[in-house]
Amino acid sequence: MLQSDQAITGCPIGMMDAMAGCLERNDAQLAARFVPRLSDDTGNHMTAAMFLTEKAGGSDVGANECVASRADDGTWRLHGEKWFCSCAHSDLILVLARPEGAPPGPRGLSLFLMPRVLDDGTRNAYIIHRLKDKFGTRAMASAEVGLRGAFAWPVGALDRGLPQMMDMVNITRVGIATATAGAMRRNAFEALTHTSRRSAFGQRLDLHPLMRDQLVELVVDSVAGLTAAMGVAELLDRADGAVSGDSAGALRLLTPLFKMHGTERARVSATEAMEVRGGNGFIEDWPEPRLLRDVYVHAIWEGAGNVIALDVLRAIEHGALAGYLADSERHIEGIGGGPAAPLAPALLDALRRVERDTAAMAGAGAEQRQLPLRRLARRMAGVAIAGRLAEQGNEFAAATGSGRLAWLAARYAARLGGEPLVARLADDAAWLPHADAMLHGGHVPVDLAGSAAETVASELRSPAAVAG
Ligand SMILES: Cc1cc2nc3c(=O)[nH]c(=O)nc-3n(C[C@H](O)[C@H](O)[C@H](O)COP(=O)(O)OP(=O)(O)OC[C@H]3O[C@@H](n4cnc5c(N)ncnc54)[C@H](O)[C@@H]3O)c2cc1C
Repeated sequence: MLQSDQAITGCPIGMMDAMAGCLERNDAQLAARFVPRLSDDTGNHMTAAMFLTEKAGGSDVGANECVASRADDGTWRLHGEKWFCSCAHSDLILVLARPEGAPPGPRGLSLFLMPRVLDDGTRNAYIIHRLKDKFGTRAMASAEVGLRGAFAWPVGALDRGLPQMMDMVNITRVGIATATAGAMRRNAFEALTHTSRRSAFGQRLDLHPLMRDQLVELVVDSVAGLTAAMGVAELLDRADGAVSGDSAGALRLLTPLFKMHGTERARVSATEAMEVRGGNGFIEDWPEPRLLRDVYVHAIWEGAGNVIALDVLRAIEHGALAGYLADSERHIEGIGGGPAAPLAPALLDALRRVERDTAAMAGAGAEQRQLPLRRLARRMAGVAIAGRLAEQGNEFAAATGSGRLAWLAARYAARLGGEPLVARLADDAAWLPHADAMLHGGHVPVDLAGSAAETVASELRSPAAVAG
C-alpha cells in the first residue's frame, strides 16, 4: 500500500492506527467509544490527527504555549495556536496543551482528545488559518490552526500528557519505518522496470555493470528496509500483548533506530532512482519527483535525525540497551548453518563494539556523549538489521536452495565496514553473471553467497575494521 502513495497512506491512515493504540493504552472509556469508529471498515470510519507542534516548540514540545482551561460545567476548553496540523479536517484530534496552573516544561503538558463536531452537531471552536505550501506530501493538507476555546476530553492521567502522547508517536515512528520500506521498494521497482526496457550503447541498461551495481544497492536497501519494518512491527505486536524485559527494551530502541535508518536510506534510494530514469526522472510525468519529495518529510516529522539520536541516548540511559543487545544476539545466533553463517561471529563482534562504546559514553560529559550519537545509531541499526537479514538469508537458502538473500545480507553487512569493504564485494566481477537473479529474484548459487559472507566477515573481524 505504501508503495503506491506516501502522503495519504503514510499520514492519515497511520494516524488512525496510532490514535487507536494510544486510546487503548491510556483511556478505556474513550477507547470504548471511539476505537470501533476509527477501525470501522464499512466506509464510515472516523479520521484522526495529532496537533503537537507550535511555533515555540516542535522538537522541544515542553516550550509549548497552548492552554487548557476548565469551564464552569467542568469540561475542558483549549486555547492557542498550533503550527503544523496534518489532516486538519479529521474527526478526532489528539492535542497537547497545558492546564492553567500546571508547571512549565514537558511535565506540565496534558493530552486531550478534540472532536471536530460536537455532540449537538455544531462545529467545535477552532479555525484553520491557512494550508501550508509544502515541498512534498501535497496530496495531504497540513494546516495552521487556532484553538478558540475548543471543547476536548482529557485523555488518561492529566499529569502524564507527554508519555501518553509518545505512545502515539512511537506507533507512528514504526509507521515511518514501514513507509520508508514501501518507498524504497517502489524506487527499486521503478528502476528495475525502467532499466529492463531501455537500451543505451547497444544493450539493455540493466546489463551494464555500473548500472547493475547501482541497481543492486537499491535492492539491498529495499530488502533491508522491509526486514527492519517487519522486525520492529513484530516487536510492537508483541507489546500489544504482555511486553516484558528485553522485548520492551528492544522495541524502545529499535523504534527510533529503524525510523532513522529508514528515513536516511530512503532519501538516498529516491535520489538514485531518479537518476536511473535519466532526464525523465526529473519530469513530473513520471513518479520519481513525487517519490523523492514525499519521502523527505519522514526525516523531519516524529523527530528529526538529531532528536531521534538523542532519544536513542535517553533510551540507553533508561536501561533499554540490554533489550537491544539480547534481541540482536538472538537473531545473530539464529543465523545458524548456511551460506550466511560466517557473518554470525563478525556481527557478534560488532555488537560487542556497540556495547563497549555505549559503556564508554556513560562516564563522559554531555558534549562527548552527544557527538558520536548519529554514527552510533546508524551502526546499531545496521548490526540489528544485518543479523535479521543473515538469519532470513539462511532460512531462504534452506527453503529454496538459492543464496540470493544470503548474498544480499552480506552486501548489506559490508556497509558496516564502510566503502572499502563494500568495494571488496562489489568490485569482484564474480557476482555479475548472477545479477539478474539478485535483482529480480531467482537462483543464486549458495557458494557465491557463502564466499561473499566469508569476505565480509573476515574483513569485519580484522582488528583494523572500521565500524560504522
Ligand atoms: C509536512 C509536515 C507535516 C507535519 N505534521 C504535523 C502534525 O500533524 N502534527 C504535529 O504536531 N506536527 C507536525 N509536523 C511538525 C513536525 O513534527 C516538526 O516540524 C518537527 O518535530 C520538528 O520541529 P520544528 O519544526 O519545531 O524544528 P526544531 O525543533 O526547531 O528543529 C530544527 C532542527 O534542530 C534539530 N534539533 C532540535 N533539538 C536539537 C538538539 N537538542 N540537538 C541537536 N539538534 C537539535 C532538529 O533535529 C532539527 O533538525 C509536521 C511537519 C511537516 C514538515
